[in-house]
Amino acid sequence: MLRALLALLIILAAGVAWRMLRVLTRPPPAARGDGKVRMVKCAVCDLYVPENEAETDGGRFYCGPSHRLIGGGGERK
Ligand SMILES: [Zn+2]
Repeated sequence: MLRALLALLIILAAGVAWRMLRVLTRPPPAARGDGKVRMVKCAVCDLYVPENEAETDGGRFYCGPSHRLIGGGGERK
């Protein structure tokens, strides 16, 4: 009887540990790509970046501050 209980306890603990491991290794919702985050294209290098991480200037999107400077201050396509 005690052995059966112990075995059950071990199985339950393994199940809980497995679930915790899955939760910890899962990427955050924003990075998974199945959310509502829109992808926008950098006006300089055509790289696609999430809209919430993109730099914007005059209605155009850029992958980073350096490309925003290039795209905003330099030549225009
Ligand atoms: Zn870029």
